[in-house]
Amino acid sequence: MSHNAESTAFRSALEVIRAVEPRVADAIGAELTDQRESLKLIASENYASPATLLAMGNWFSDKYAEGTVGRRFYAGCQNVDTVEALAAEHARELFGAAHAYVQPHSGIDANLVAFWAVLADRVESPALKKAQVRQVNDLTEADWFALRRELGNQRMLGMSLDAGGHLTHGFRPNISGKMFDQRSYGTDLATGLIDYDRVAEAAREFKPLILVGGYSAYPRKVNFRILREIADSVGATFMVDMAHFAGLVAGKVFTGDFDPVPHAHIVTTTTHKSLRGPRGGMVLCQPELADQVDRGCPMVLGGPLPHVMAAKAVALAEARRPDFADYAQRIVDNAQALAEGLLRRGATLVTGGTDNHLVLIDVSGYGLTGRQAEQALLDSGIVTNRNSVPQDPNGAWYTSGIRIGTPALTTRGLGTAEMDQTAELIHTVLTHTTAGANADGTPSKAKYTLDADLADKIARQATDLLAPHPLYPAIDLA
Ligand code: PLP
Repeated sequence: MSHNAESTAFRSALEVIRAVEPRVADAIGAELTDQRESLKLIASENYASPATLLAMGNWFSDKYAEGTVGRRFYAGCQNVDTVEALAAEHARELFGAAHAYVQPHSGIDANLVAFWAVLADRVESPALKKAQVRQVNDLTEADWFALRRELGNQRMLGMSLDAGGHLTHGFRPNISGKMFDQRSYGTDLATGLIDYDRVAEAAREFKPLILVGGYSAYPRKVNFRILREIADSVGATFMVDMAHFAGLVAGKVFTGDFDPVPHAHIVTTTTHKSLRGPRGGMVLCQPELADQVDRGCPMVLGGPLPHVMAAKAVALAEARRPDFADYAQRIVDNAQALAEGLLRRGATLVTGGTDNHLVLIDVSGYGLTGRQAEQALLDSGIVTNRNSVPQDPNGAWYTSGIRIGTPALTTRGLGTAEMDQTAELIHTVLTHTTAGANADGTPSKAKYTLDADLADKIARQATDLLAPHPLYPAIDLA
């Protein structure tokens, strides 16, 4: 395929959009410039391929397709059936899963589908029995009341937010924390690592219906075989949310005990992080949960997004190619080089390093909050996000951590030498940033000072680092 074709496709698309609302075309163009120029270290972001992006911009967006392949509530879904079946087949083959449900619109939606599927499968209430036989519209108010009472009694054990878990793993402000009576497991305070004996102890005491594995900000491998044994010992369903590290599973960097798919009853993921697909979600499960999972729409989800399922099929096909395994390994090599570069310069890292795609810097060692560090880095052309560290004294808003990840820069082709240079840039910014004070003289968690010339100099160095690795080199919008 010629480079020219990609340029022509995106240029023509913008021309068509510009004729209707030029400001949207301008914003799309400006976004490409911004993404090209910034050193993107957001652990949950990536750059999808032009083929994946183009698969989303078309008339599949116009279709309603509630139901599943071959069993739709709408007529005329034969082409949607084709792409949904393809995406599911690629997902099953890629991950070695018995069943794949590719409709969830996002990771949170995938988790909701999974929670519902487990509840519907496990709870013996007349209301749920009715729901299981697809009579949701017939449920009376009393049925729904009974249902809510049943749901309110369910228990979930997941990783705590400050140890790296996700909001949907039972955190109170999220619906998961309202649907479930929740308890969390943290990490060992000295090592920062999951203490499996403590998880087993919590499971014995709490007897969860669902044990959740997976994380948004834990920089280490997780032993899913052990977590499954713990779940089995208390009769819990074992669910893993692999949203962050799905690319490392797909690329066979995480295998054996560290591959969740053979161990979990149900696995959820996003498709847009390390997996490098379109924004979306997916559920993989063992055969006994397949029927419940397939009821995700309309039980929990609105109509599926056929254009995004088409893009999932494209991205999953890409992830099945041999070069994806190489990409996944380079993500981890880069994260380790970044961690080593930071450690050598004196940074404190949660768990002392990484064996996945992300690194968590405890910036309190630099006398900063996560909020101050995030903004100072942004001023210097380095895009990261602040994140809690275990037992964070600054809470979930200001935080004491900076989470950085390598999937995006690895897609651009940066390697370990450039990761060391990136560590130097980050360390220079953080050592030259000082925490500010409020008007009354008390320490501020948000204000900071950083010399503007230094910030500009670092931003230029960041641009120089990116220059040999242009983003979407084939696309020229000029
Ligand atoms: N699960 C995990 C572990 C995540 O890190 C995230 C997003 O950051 C999600 C779920 C939610 O994904 P989405 O934003 O697509 O709903």
